[in-house]
Amino acid sequence: VTRPDEERASAEFTPFWDAALQGKLRLPVCSQCGAWRWLPGTCRNNCVAPAEWAECSGRGIVYAHTTVRRAPTAAFEAAVPYVLALIELEEGPRLLAHVVRCDPMVLSIGLPVRVSFEAVESSGLVAPVFVPEVDI
Ligand SMILES: [Zn+2]
Repeated sequence: VTRPDEERASAEFTPFWDAALQGKLRLPVCSQCGAWRWLPGTCRNNCVAPAEWAECSGRGIVYAHTTVRRAPTAAFEAAVPYVLALIELEEGPRLLAHVVRCDPMVLSIGLPVRVSFEAVESSGLVAPVFVPEVDI
């Protein structure tokens, strides 16, 4: 059972997941002032206009990262260890995502990364993940 506020929160992210299914990274942008609105919600400039969804370049840098070695739930047991990072997109918003295809021991803050997309097992979803721009 989901609470009404959970359903509303989930609906706010629907364009994000729909874009990911098409291999695109889209985030909400304010239709009044042009500021990115990530996470979805009200504009930091207190605009009243709704957000529109715009495609990002998919390029950014690792702003912060950690390696998860103990699965938070059973669904993640096959995935550990994995890298969870805050990616600062070149457009400015910071996105929490997995970094894949890299050695966690050599991952560093400021490392250039680009978006890729991976199916989330048994969910029907595709999630944006990030990979280093150059092999490390
Ligand atoms: Zn605004």
